[in-house]
Amino acid sequence: MHADCVFCKIIAGQIPSQKVYEDEMMLAFHDIHPAAPVHVLIIPKIHISNLFDCTQAHTEMLGKMALLAPQLAKQTGADNGFRFVINNGVDGRQEVYHLHAHILGGAHPWQRQT
Ligand code: AMP
Repeated sequence: MHADCVFCKIIAGQIPSQKVYEDEMMLAFHDIHPAAPVHVLIIPKIHISNLFDCTQAHTEMLGKMALLAPQLAKQTGADNGFRFVINNGVDGRQEVYHLHAHILGGAHPWQRQT
């Protein structure tokens, strides 16, 4: 755990979150500032800054993130499609330097059928 990392604090239960999934390796919760009707973050429980720091040793964890995305998208109402986004580094506009994947989905108001 990194003492100054907001996502490490969420993992440790020091900061509350709206959890949607947890296992021994991963945690997923709703983004505090949703940018879409469904906006969920998937994070590994180990602290790693971003994809630049990933190695072969992280293959299972990265695969798990990708496989969790459609499962959690369906679970949270984004069953009609979603974006799977990982922002990396300064030019990638990363704000929180603990690896995370965004699930962005759900119909936009102008797309909804009435
Ligand atoms: P990124 O630009 O990929 O680093 O995005 C970081 C995301 O973390 C943003 O969408 C924030 O709204 C989200 N975020 C930051 N703090 C929290 C928090 N305490 N709980 C939930 N989401 C958060």
